[in-house]
Amino acid sequence: MKKPEQTPLNLFDEEEQSPAPLRDETWLQARLDALCKEHFSDLPAGFPIRIVFGAPSLHVLGSIRPRNGESLIRLSGLYRWIEVPEWVADATIVHELAHYVHGIGSGLERLYPHAHRGGVVDAELERRGLGEMSRKAKQWRSQHWMALYERFYGPSKIEEKGSSDPYNYWFSLPICQNRRTLEEINQISVYIAQRAELTRPPFKCTWLAAKETHRHRCYYFSEVRELRIHPLISSLKVPVSVLWHDIAYWLCWEMGIRKTADRYRKIQLLIGERRTRAALKWIGGPGRHWLERTLKWYLA
Ligand SMILES: [Zn+2]
Repeated sequence: MKKPEQTPLNLFDEEEQSPAPLRDETWLQARLDALCKEHFSDLPAGFPIRIVFGAPSLHVLGSIRPRNGESLIRLSGLYRWIEVPEWVADATIVHELAHYVHGIGSGLERLYPHAHRGGVVDAELERRGLGEMSRKAKQWRSQHWMALYERFYGPSKIEEKGSSDPYNYWFSLPICQNRRTLEEINQISVYIAQRAELTRPPFKCTWLAAKETHRHRCYYFSEVRELRIHPLISSLKVPVSVLWHDIAYWLCWEMGIRKTADRYRKIQLLIGERRTRAALKWIGGPGRHWLERTLKWYLA
């Protein structure tokens, strides 16, 4: 085949070298349609299904949840890679469809109290002639899944892509649509430092390059003097008093106040009684496991 003349920008070469494209949501929709037609032609009419890719989760392959009158199926972003055989992705889609039939995330009547208990999903798939595919997919994943994940999303990969990338994913989530900026957060720490009669905060607030395994609101890196805040905590869904509390907490730590009682007295002095109470109320109440639940929701 004759190679076209190269443009000064060398466009042709770039195109030729570019890796195979990732799967997109059009592909997902086509797979869903095909699988519904072939194996779920009796699908009861619940919410209309929308299928999207979520974050590239290693552990959660897919999820199904009601969302604004739709049934939202998310597949791990790892399925975007064409290195994963199509039938392996299919196996996860039909797993979610079995949940749909059972009334999970579909607006239909719940057939079983627990999503998986008693092997109800496997039985449903077996009944529809999908048991074999399901088992083979599981086997395939046990051999390749982890290696694929590390190949594409290993820590070295993230660093190569530039430091802003780990945060952009989190900030793109709907929960972070209204969020606080790092400037706003650092202003809080300036204020608290002044209250502590320090000329400036002993640490800088930065974003944590959060992975799905990070379960805390923030992490203090004393050697570089950075309080790294989980990007999800930037959401306005988290009361601002919680940020005041967390910053004051680590400031106390940096000031050598380690005893719990002393620390709480100091925190109250620094951020005020009302804020402390509001923060603790959230942390011990709705904020308990908030990050875990939010992560589960988005990474499912
Ligand atoms: Zn499931």
